[in-house]
Amino acid sequence: MKVCPRCGRTDEEVPFIGFFCRDCYLKEHQLVHVPKSLKIRYCPRCERIYTDRWHEFSLEALSEWLRKKIKTDMEGAQISFSFPEVSEDGISFLYVARGVVEGVPVELKGEGQIKVEKQLCPRCARESGGYYEAIIQVRGADVQRMADLIAHSVEKEPDKFAFVSKVVYRREGIDLYVGSRKAADRVAKRFEKRYGAKLVRSHTLVTEKNGKRLYRLTVALHFPE
Ligand SMILES: [Zn+2]
Ligand SMILES: [Zn+2]
Repeated sequence: MKVCPRCGRTDEEVPFIGFFCRDCYLKEHQLVHVPKSLKIRYCPRCERIYTDRWHEFSLEALSEWLRKKIKTDMEGAQISFSFPEVSEDGISFLYVARGVVEGVPVELKGEGQIKVEKQLCPRCARESGGYYEAIIQVRGADVQRMADLIAHSVEKEPDKFAFVSKVVYRREGIDLYVGSRKAADRVAKRFEKRYGAKLVRSHTLVTEKNGKRLYRLTVALHFPE
């Protein structure tokens, strides 16, 4: 017979996990790991959210996204969610996680918060005025495919203005107008490495505001044949 060293109950009264009864084991071990800060991007213009792509908001989509963020140390874990509060200012959720630990079924409840980060999605950004800080000039072989891949990569960057606001087709290639200079720079460097492209960066002074100079970045990426 096992006796729980914390509460004194025996394995005839309650199921045990290891040396402890289930209740005491669960007090000692954190089996569900909810990230401290959870943020989801939300486009206030079209009301879509970004999980692994931009799509219509729904509680099912939100649950699926959360399920990927929350880790558990249970076998066959199943997590279900409810959302007592959903607004543009934040989302609160309750979860029930069921699974098995060392052959013993367990059920855990908890709660969490999701921050809502308002950001124009690429489609809305494109439609709402064409703001840009950088131009990526796609040149050389396979420009259409490369431009598509680059645009897709830009839109996956975390910056607020990581979108392509305009696409211009030229005889020499395709110009992508990008909302964030940093995002454009990072993506261009990645493509330089991955595809052996030749990269040329240049800056043009746009304005001088309160002694602060604002530059626009142009990166030319030339893909080899
Ligand atoms: Zn106990
Ligand atoms: Zn949108």
